[in-house]
Amino acid sequence: MTLEALSQDPKFTPWWWEAAPLRPKSETALPARADVAIVGAGYSGLSAALTLARAGRQVVVVDAEAPGYGASSRNGGQCGSGNQKFTAAELIARHGEKKARELVAEGLAALRYLGDFIEAEGIECDFSRVGRFRGAAIPRHYENLARDMQDMRKLAGFESHMVPRAEQHAEVGSDFYHGGAVLPDDGSLHPALYHLGLLQRAEEAGVQVIGHTPVTKVAVESEQVTVSTARGRLQAPCALITTNGYTGAALPQFNRRIVPIGSAMIATEVLDAELLRRLMPKNRVVGSSSRIYHYIRLCPEGKRFLWGGRVKGWGLPEDPSGFVHLYRDMLRVFPELTGTRITHCWSGYVAYTRDIFPHLGHRDRIYHAMGYCGTGVVRATYLGNKIALKILGDKEGHTAFDDLDFRNYPAHYVTCQTVPAAIEWYRFRDWLERGT
Ligand SMILES: Cc1cc2nc3c(=O)[nH]c(=O)nc-3n(C[C@H](O)[C@H](O)[C@H](O)COP(=O)(O)OP(=O)(O)OC[C@H]3O[C@@H](n4cnc5c(N)ncnc54)[C@H](O)[C@@H]3O)c2cc1C
Repeated sequence: MTLEALSQDPKFTPWWWEAAPLRPKSETALPARADVAIVGAGYSGLSAALTLARAGRQVVVVDAEAPGYGASSRNGGQCGSGNQKFTAAELIARHGEKKARELVAEGLAALRYLGDFIEAEGIECDFSRVGRFRGAAIPRHYENLARDMQDMRKLAGFESHMVPRAEQHAEVGSDFYHGGAVLPDDGSLHPALYHLGLLQRAEEAGVQVIGHTPVTKVAVESEQVTVSTARGRLQAPCALITTNGYTGAALPQFNRRIVPIGSAMIATEVLDAELLRRLMPKNRVVGSSSRIYHYIRLCPEGKRFLWGGRVKGWGLPEDPSGFVHLYRDMLRVFPELTGTRITHCWSGYVAYTRDIFPHLGHRDRIYHAMGYCGTGVVRATYLGNKIALKILGDKEGHTAFDDLDFRNYPAHYVTCQTVPAAIEWYRFRDWLERGT
């Protein structure tokens, strides 16, 4: 059944691109000079570019592919504080109470920033504070979540409430979870329309965004940064690298600090409205507490399911067989979707760092902002603005993330090669714990 549902010619492009297709290749010449050269035209690069251009800087953003080709036009569009990566107790044990409070508070500030920014800029991207239901995969996780939500509230005023299993159908029409936590301030948006809006605002502010121009080297040479590309050289007093999960060998100083991990999504055909109301009664974004996280939502018009999870194996999947496990997982949570046809399958890279925190800063004249660990809709926008403020020498560029050490992976190549095995191991442990 699963392969059948996936074998009826699904498109291998993000469903989001139906409303916001990527720009075709253009032959716009690469300027020779800029005040700031940015590598990567996703949320981070464009958010930074907008702030810099509005402060009067001449900004050129280059991308190896069409602007938005990276994760920024293909993600799940779930908007959260990023605080769910650690429990409050883990954060305090690692960083002490004061720092833990600052980190959680900054996550909440970032989430508010995104909503305010979209509103102030008038970006039409279906942003809505629908709230998140974080389902407990096993009964013990419910207890842990309840404790952590209380700790988070005490630590930094993090808003949430628990929903026991007996009441969870008011949140999500599934018996898979053992209750869960509701995070009412989280939201959702259309990621490709959001990227398009950001791109338009940046260009209106005077930013030049040049696609299909892979950067081959970035080097500091006598008070200047030279950005070498396949289409010529660009020089600027400083450069900003925002390549996140797509950071490659051309940027070795960042490449060894980032492990790219594949994330994949499937979109169903248009479904019966009554069924969707039953399965997603509050139109929340939904995630699980398991080690191998799945993320679920409806499309903005509320007519299809969008289901996301980790890829299997090396690289990104290229045919339907690489998405079958997502379909199976979807049916475990929503058996009523059995037989539903899949119309779109796609995938992309998120960027993991050793400490599972994003990093921003600079060395000499080369700035960076990256490593969102799958939570970049909010954080890339927010930290893109912050790194721009740092470049401008504005004190408002300060963040709680500033003094976190952006460490190399000591055996980077080996770590990247073992990711698929690690994911399978975690999947096996999830399965063992649930017993199904
Ligand atoms: C399938 C999927 C689902 C996700 N779901 C969510 C979600 O629901 N919520 C959430 O918060 N986050 C989610 N994420 C993560 C989120 O999309 C990213 O964290 C965010 O988009 C990162 O933005 P960015 O601008 O830093 O990087 P990207 O958007 O990835 O952009 C980096 C760009 O750098 C360019 N580049 C790389 N190397 C070079 C080079 N040498 N020369 C020129 N250009 C180069 C790439 O072409 C790319 O366009 C998801 C990601 C994926 C893949």
